[in-house]
Amino acid sequence: ATPTALVVGMGNGARHGILFRHSQAMMRMGEVQAILLDKTGTLTQGRPTLHRIIPAPDWHDTPARLLCYAASVEHASEHPLALAIVQAAQEQQLILHDIDHFTALTGHGVRATVNQQTVLLGNRRLMQQQGIDIEQQNATAFIAEAEQVQQEGYTVLWMAIDGNIVAAFILSDTLRPGATEAVTALKAASLRVLLMTGDNAATAHRIAKTVGIEEVYADVLPEDKLLKVKELQQQGLVVAMVGDGINDAPALAQADVGVAMGTGADVAIETASVTLVGSDPRGLLRALRLSRATLRTIR
Ligand code: ADP
Ligand code: MG
Repeated sequence: ATPTALVVGMGNGARHGILFRHSQAMMRMGEVQAILLDKTGTLTQGRPTLHRIIPAPDWHDTPARLLCYAASVEHASEHPLALAIVQAAQEQQLILHDIDHFTALTGHGVRATVNQQTVLLGNRRLMQQQGIDIEQQNATAFIAEAEQVQQEGYTVLWMAIDGNIVAAFILSDTLRPGATEAVTALKAASLRVLLMTGDNAATAHRIAKTVGIEEVYADVLPEDKLLKVKELQQQGLVVAMVGDGINDAPALAQADVGVAMGTGADVAIETASVTLVGSDPRGLLRALRLSRATLRTIR
């Protein structure tokens, strides 16, 4: 039978928007030694907005036309970055093109045919994978500018049309209130706190620095998030993974405690053993305290 202290603890959690799936989840939480935090949608709100478009110097399209191409392709994607681009196009009341052959390349970006041209939109890794050498495009100042904003914490998406880089799209996401407070408190509670993201290293390090995380895994492919959890477990650590996306689900399942954000994808919530209903990162600390206190009562 479940000890009364656990039932009380779980009820207490539920009142504060922390849903433990079962009593084992509550007990395990109190033993966690390392906590891996996803970036987009977990530490940040996961609702990025388009900040700016930098057209490539040799390409004579207006920002509106570039945005129209990008939004036409992203209209077929459900990624938060895609929504940001489509929303920007809607705000300008642009009429989107029909597209063919849409492909989502997980962890990389998207590809489609627009007006018989091949349009690619995604990160640098996507361009590499598709054989487009950004550096060779004779646009040093343009590239330097885009890389610079990346250092400032913005996410940069590159767009190529028929193999030519035509623009950089600069997007920004907002930190969740309480993110820094949560990280500070988790560290003070002797946890090893790590950031893990599919986003690029520059953006990831900037966000990590802002919230006070020293250990960062950036450019992590969805299938590799799971491996990072295993790596820490192999070091003998009890690991919690906190995420919100479909791409986080395998890692949430592998972790000793999987924690999903309430605003996250259904599969993330279904896979996790704890859900933070209000998606407040400070809920992690409350969950930890509650579990530790309950364990002390039982033992
Ligand atoms: P995360 O949620 O940790 O950022 P994802 O695997 O969802 O991880 O995305 C990783 C990266 O892949 C994004 O930061 C972006 O650069 C690129 N990407 C993914 N989907 C898209 C998309 N629809 N359009 C453009 N880029 C994308
Ligand atoms: Mg995410």
